[in-house]
Amino acid sequence: MTRLTFRGTGDSMSVPRIYCDCGVCTEARDTGVNRRLRSSVQIEDQDAGMIWIDCGTDFAKQLEAASLRTVDTLLITHAHFDHIGGLVEWADACRWLNTKGQAFAPSEVIQAILDRFPWLSHHIHFQSFDQPITLGKWLASSWRVNHGKNGYAYAFRFEHIETGYKWVYCSDSINLTEQQQQPLANLDLLVLGTSFYHEPFPYETRSVYDVLEAIELVKKWGPKQTILTHMSHDIDLRKDYKLPEQLAFAYTGMSVSI
Ligand SMILES: [Zn+2]
Ligand SMILES: [Zn+2]
Repeated sequence: MTRLTFRGTGDSMSVPRIYCDCGVCTEARDTGVNRRLRSSVQIEDQDAGMIWIDCGTDFAKQLEAASLRTVDTLLITHAHFDHIGGLVEWADACRWLNTKGQAFAPSEVIQAILDRFPWLSHHIHFQSFDQPITLGKWLASSWRVNHGKNGYAYAFRFEHIETGYKWVYCSDSINLTEQQQQPLANLDLLVLGTSFYHEPFPYETRSVYDVLEAIELVKKWGPKQTILTHMSHDIDLRKDYKLPEQLAFAYTGMSVSI
């Protein structure tokens, strides 16, 4: 049995944004339906233990929310600060808990992290996730995806070796090539990042799909269920966007059993 819990569903600036008095940011401050920490997902698995995808600047708060002191395994999609800013705190936790953290990331991501924070390797064992790895009964693989003006990120695909259940985590992507779209076909569950409902800015300045694009892509890819994450203050969870069935916004603390 595996349970996913969305500990962070926000974009790189989270919600509320510090400078912003828009209706969504105000609601996020006052009541918190739209309060969103940087995107990350907790994976509790009976065989693989406590896995976590991405470790942004809200990592400590997210662990507190999960009543955890550390995690067994961390998977890192790319070296943007909203996905790695918490590694310093995790390394410190590993130091004081006298453990060595286990992190998997594509080689170029490990390199980018250690160029900036070389001391992390004292307490975190970084291992290459260029080739598929086994986590409990999940076969996990990674592939590079376009991240628009921000370069590249990676997406992760998990396939259960007994049940055949297939799911993907792809938080930061846009303008995927046909080849990059191949691992997204016929999934049981797709977790996809969409920063805006409809992002009005020129395509070449963007870095993540929007909800309207996701609705079209999901028709092509045909996942049984899609959960949208990595959302900016453009998305108001109090509003009914009339999303197609099988497509839903993630919210902080949302859990799904897979
Ligand atoms: Zn991001
Ligand atoms: Zn990013």
